[in-house]
Amino acid sequence: MNGDASSDEPPDDRTGSDSVDGAFTYNGGRVDPGESTNIRYSISETYLGDPVKIPVTVINGVHPGPTVFLSAAAHGDELNGIEVVREVAHDWDHSELCGTLVCLPVMNVPGFLAQERYLPIYDRDLNRSFPGREGSTSARRMAHRIFTNFIEPCDLGIDFHTSTRGRTNMLHVRADMDDSVVSRLANAFSSNVIIAGDGASGTLRREATESGVPTITVEMGEAHRFQRRLIDRALTGVASVLAEFGCHPDSSVHWPGWRTIIDDDDEKTWLRADAGGIVDMKQGRGALVEEGDVICTITNPFKEEDEVVTVEAPFTGLIVGVLENPVVYPGNPLCHLVGLSSDTLTALERERTAERSLADLQRN
Ligand SMILES: [Zn+2]
Repeated sequence: MNGDASSDEPPDDRTGSDSVDGAFTYNGGRVDPGESTNIRYSISETYLGDPVKIPVTVINGVHPGPTVFLSAAAHGDELNGIEVVREVAHDWDHSELCGTLVCLPVMNVPGFLAQERYLPIYDRDLNRSFPGREGSTSARRMAHRIFTNFIEPCDLGIDFHTSTRGRTNMLHVRADMDDSVVSRLANAFSSNVIIAGDGASGTLRREATESGVPTITVEMGEAHRFQRRLIDRALTGVASVLAEFGCHPDSSVHWPGWRTIIDDDDEKTWLRADAGGIVDMKQGRGALVEEGDVICTITNPFKEEDEVVTVEAPFTGLIVGVLENPVVYPGNPLCHLVGLSSDTLTALERERTAERSLADLQRN
């Protein structure tokens, strides 16, 4: 199973596919059933003419089954997903895998090297450049090579992200819940929160889904960090998806305890600052706030009391995303608040009470 070859591809225009004999093929190589390969695949060239290569691990199981891609770091500074994809690729036992895993831990290599969100070439967003195109911009050419070789041959996929630098978010799934397979995938990932929507044009999940590869985005935590608790929860989600789609037929699908699906009709808002200043945030990621609870205060450099702006929750809900870098201009986002149904609220309160009791027990 572990024939870890490292290979380069010849420069022609053939692209990837999942062939009839069960082999996974991409431009320049193939991975047969029972084989696992680490590839450094060229998607562009630097100013020095050197290849820009992305790491890809293809694990083709002994048994037939779906081909699933796991991708991360389309935004170069969003690191949590990298560790999720690496652990699945290299720490898990794949001896009984049914199907194929295509693991893309770092898609935006130039951004990753610079520890920046965007491609550091005119600040292009790789995650608005899919499915890409030959003969187009540098970002679209890179997207095209990734998409045609490693995304299109798949049956479904999960793309991992974090919040933008300076903010953090709860682990949640973004998915087009009107698509039945995407919805099944989103539910199987076992997150508490799913935000429904088809995503912006050019994002990997939207373009992959439109090309017949149902895909969800997982958002988790903040940029520039490995956050172990979130990584472990995401690994549970991946295992649950692989169980749901028959890649690990002996495993079971995980239920997260409570679930809320936020769609366009639900109460949700990015609360924005109406004053510039320095923010004292009173609530953390995942906090449950009641209508009227103080979310934060914004003060000026002199902390003048008559100038303090207090921001309160406009409705009872869950803080899915929150500012971490405590400075704002008017209009900057403070937190992403979503409303919850009364059933979800009850389940969530029950879970929080149980967590508190467990923490008390462990302390005593
Ligand atoms: Zn991102």
